[in-house]
Order: sequence, then C-alpha cells, then structure tokens
Amino acid sequence: MGSDDKLQKYRDKRDFRRTPEPQGGGGSSSEKPVFVLQKHDASRLHYDLRLEMDGVLKSWAVPKGPSTDPSQKRLAVPTEDHPLEYADFEGVIPQDEYGGGVMIVWDKGTYRNLQADKDDSRSMAESYEDGHIEIWLEGEKLSGGYALIRTGKEDDSRWLLIKMKDDRADARRNPTSTEPKSVLSGRTLEEVREQAADEGSEES
Ligand code: MN
Repeated sequence: MGSDDKLQKYRDKRDFRRTPEPQGGGGSSSEKPVFVLQKHDASRLHYDLRLEMDGVLKSWAVPKGPSTDPSQKRLAVPTEDHPLEYADFEGVIPQDEYGGGVMIVWDKGTYRNLQADKDDSRSMAESYEDGHIEIWLEGEKLSGGYALIRTGKEDDSRWLLIKMKDDRADARRNPTSTEPKSVLSGRTLEEVREQAADEGSEES
C-alpha cells in the first residue's frame, strides 16, 4: 500500500481549505527515521506520538504523555496515519476540524528499531503488526529505549508506551511538566494560541 492510500483516512477527516495542517504527499525520508511527540490541546490535552514507518507517520494519542520512569505505563491509542510533513506542524487547527485545537512540536528526533538488532531482525512494519515495538529514541527531551505494546489483538485496540530500563531511564525526571516548550519554536501552547489570536485580529 502506497503512502497516498494510507493517508486517505487522514485526508477524509480534514478540509484543507480550513485547516493549516499539511495535506501530505511531498515529504522527505531521511536516512534515519523520525519520531515526534506533539502536545495537542484539543477537547482534552494529550500528546501525539508519531513514528516514521514506510513513508507515513504511524500515530498514537497518549493522554498522559510519555514518562521517563519505567514503572509508568502510559496508554497510547492508535490514530490515523499522518503525512511525513506533519512532524514539523504546529499551530491552531479550527475547532470544527477533526482534532481541532492548538499543537506544538514538544519533542522531535530520530529513532532506531531495536528489534532489527536482534536475531529475528524484525522490520518496524512486522513489529507493528505483532503489536510489540522496541525503539531507541534520540530526541531533545526523550532518549533511550521505549516499548510500545498492544494490549489486544484487534487493530483498533489499545497500546501501552513504556520506558525501557536503561541508563536514560530516570524516575525523578518529569519532562512533560518541567519542559513544556516546543523544540522547534521555543513557544508554549499558550504562546502559539495568543500569537494566532493576535494575527487574526490584525487581519480583520
Ligand atoms: Mn491529537
């Protein structure tokens, strides 16, 4: 399945005359696959975890956001594939658009498939199908091993995001509260919201 087919659900949910979100189709795949965590103040505040996989961003909504503490299992609910360009998106999404609200790029970097190093040399696509992903993140806020484990067998079932035990694990860190700013623009969600409101009032 090409990335255009995979993005059908994403496009069906959005009116690109109204939302500033990218339509997708361009995109550039770098040597190392990208991960991003977007902080999204929609009807409920959550974090969107996205992993570059076969030309799209596989996506999960993580209500509590990631933890650096291996004892904290965080619920991760799969959402539709997003285009690669989405990894750099921050801004205000109109309220009547699916998933409206304000979004910033809370963390971004590259990742490595830890299971490709093992004997079974599983691809990310295979790991995703199996519902057991292990990756090494190199972000600005998050780094080290993270596991994503599906808790049921159906495609739409829930996953858990868990920090693996390694030298990057730290039960005392709490980056979602101590490091709230965008790694792209240095802005908080509130600053993005205020800037958009200012620009809107200048136009009218
Ligand atoms: Mn979201």
